[in-house]
Amino acid sequence: LSDDELDNIKEVFNDAWLGLGPKVYHFEDEWNKYIKSEHSIAVNSGTAALHVALAAYEFPKNKKVLVPAITFSATAAVALYCNLEPVFVDIDKETLTISLSDLEKKYTDDCVAIIPVHFGGQPCDMDKLMDWAKNKGLVVIEDCANCAGGEYKGKKLGTIGDIGCYSFEEKKNMVTGDGGMISTNDIELANKIRPIRWHGIDKDTWQRQKDINDTNIEDFGMHWYYEIVTLGYKYNMNDLMAAIGLAQLKKLDLMNEMRKNAIEKYLVGISNCKTIKASFPYALEKSAYWLFSIRCKKRNELIIFLKNKGIATSVHFMPLTMHPFYKRFDSNIDNARSVYKELITLPL
Ligand SMILES: *Cc1c(COP(=O)(O)O)cnc(C)c1O
Repeated sequence: LSDDELDNIKEVFNDAWLGLGPKVYHFEDEWNKYIKSEHSIAVNSGTAALHVALAAYEFPKNKKVLVPAITFSATAAVALYCNLEPVFVDIDKETLTISLSDLEKKYTDDCVAIIPVHFGGQPCDMDKLMDWAKNKGLVVIEDCANCAGGEYKGKKLGTIGDIGCYSFEEKKNMVTGDGGMISTNDIELANKIRPIRWHGIDKDTWQRQKDINDTNIEDFGMHWYYEIVTLGYKYNMNDLMAAIGLAQLKKLDLMNEMRKNAIEKYLVGISNCKTIKASFPYALEKSAYWLFSIRCKKRNELIIFLKNKGIATSVHFMPLTMHPFYKRFDSNIDNARSVYKELITLPL
């Protein structure tokens, strides 16, 4: 963060429009240009993005959503928000992303969607996954909370599935404090999503404000009019967040490059270690890795050793079904359970 963000925030203060307004729309336009998507809708978190994306499809109650066993809670929680059931799919041992062979095993006729997660910035095998999902008639919602700016075969992650969801939470690749974005090329879907982020209202306050002096409006004096067209939520991004986002977006590539350079050093540094290896098959070209993660059989001892040296570590993530709340959705996820025990996240 630097003066760029502060200058943008100052503009918002000067305009005295802090809520959902021109900065949010500007940020959406810039985001579309950056990832080459046709429609983007800014919200107040990555979780809200995933929730709204799934809600827009209005799937019948109790249908199932395929999610990877190793991800952050939000990926699975949004299925429950929509009265759907998460089905936990094992991870691939090498990439730590959703396992295509286990997808085949976990799939049933009740499945309606899949939320692949580009975990830690490691892209899922989208070619195979899309072929499989489309063959089964599944909606694909890419969880890009860990990979803003990353690419897969020349396309930005989040533009390959039906819909892409991003997080700008304060720890992610780029930040707006809290924040998120939904992107899609499907105009009907985008039009459905827009009101869901703001109370289900078809015309938000900024749009109504803009129309005050528009003499082209059929019913002059009706600028105040709006309709509630669907069940909506208070999930909008506001202009303060968007002001930060506009500055952050300009340096997203640079920040991803800095992470790439740090990872390169780590990879050289651990290349001779017999007991430590990289968790992902790091492919750094056009990458947006959010984590530098290693695997070590003596994980807890290494964490303590590093702690004593003043080096912060963490673990991303314990398989969700090992948490009390998600236990009832437990399934066979042997890879996730065994790999998880070796994972350590190093500072990046
Ligand atoms: C952080 C994260 C989210 C949620 O994003 P928020 O902006 O914190 O709501 C969703 N999925 C994954 C994989 C994440 O890491």
